[in-house]
Amino acid sequence: MSLASDKMNLLDLDKSGFENLAVEFGAKPFHGRNLLKWIHKHGVIDLEQMTDLPKSFREALAEKTYIAVPEIVFEQPSLDGTTKWVLELEDGQRIETVHIPEGDRSTICVSSQVGCALDCSFCSTAQQGFNRNLTTGEIIGQIWQATRELGRSPTNVVMMGMGEPLANFGPVTAAMKLMTDDLAYMIAKARVTISTSGIVPALRRLKDECDVSLAVSLHAPTNELRDELVPINQKYPLEELIPACKEFVSGERKRKVTWEYVMLDGVNDSIAHAKALIRLLEGVPSKINLIPFNPFPGTRYTTSPRDKVDAFRDRLVRAGIVTITRKTRGDDIDAACGQLVGKVRDKSRRQLRRDQSVAAQGGNAQ
Ligand code: SAH
Repeated sequence: MSLASDKMNLLDLDKSGFENLAVEFGAKPFHGRNLLKWIHKHGVIDLEQMTDLPKSFREALAEKTYIAVPEIVFEQPSLDGTTKWVLELEDGQRIETVHIPEGDRSTICVSSQVGCALDCSFCSTAQQGFNRNLTTGEIIGQIWQATRELGRSPTNVVMMGMGEPLANFGPVTAAMKLMTDDLAYMIAKARVTISTSGIVPALRRLKDECDVSLAVSLHAPTNELRDELVPINQKYPLEELIPACKEFVSGERKRKVTWEYVMLDGVNDSIAHAKALIRLLEGVPSKINLIPFNPFPGTRYTTSPRDKVDAFRDRLVRAGIVTITRKTRGDDIDAACGQLVGKVRDKSRRQLRRDQSVAAQGGNAQ
């Protein structure tokens, strides 16, 4: 997995990219699609094993391209079954991917950037600042690795790891298209959720590009409070955000916006806030996820007590809004919402490297 800057990383390609490359290298578009299947459906990255591709095509690929998968350098299991993987990128940067199993479901929480620029006041990723966008290969590479680790494609994906996905539009949408493609991971569009703090122009473009499920980090029912908690609100205030979300879920498929609302004691958790929230969301097909605040060192916030969360939830439910209190998963390993910053212990790096070389040889192919 050498750093080969003059060569193209095949993990960065979308479907038409694979088809075009095949033609450019003298093969047929379907050869490009077969290459996509080898890499993403079967997890094979050794060209020698791709025996249905013309030899000349494989030779050109070996000469002019390479395949770099983000490498799992740490694995940290949580008591509740959640696992956090720390992945190292070609330039040595590190990101985090979380696996959350629940019954038959296996959800992968995917990062879209190294760090984040949005500076939400209650999020620990914000504290590390923004480093860079992830490439398509680095985003889909998280699913590639998770699929190898799980032995099958995840059933659900949430773009809720580090970063603001809509601030990295091209690579995020390209990767989500691969997640949902039948030639690759075959995850239903409704089971891929993009979570955004509300970059309205990008949200307006998203539906045509990739019609996945939408979650929005709302966290406050008024501009005054949201300006403070989610500063991007100063640029795209609620009167722009709410109609754009409503528009996103409009159409034939009956869908709802999932509103994420972190419960901060004495800040946004009163009954008056709940009432304001009900007014704000009137006429918008909505589902609300109340998230217990996950504390981190240096934060000025504390979690709302259970009875306040329950009273808040009951008020919303009485108004007819589906509301659930999200279970905190993986908080013992800092894998919970807003805790992804790369604070981990080295567990079994050698074992992981061994597993990876088996996977790279196609040992885990489905
Ligand atoms: N930037 C995107 C993706 C992050 S998703 C977004 O804002 O939607 C992670 C979710 O966890 C977001 O709703 C985020 O606001 C929330 N979150 C961040 N820090 C948190 C914390 N300390 N406790 C609980 N939830 C938090």
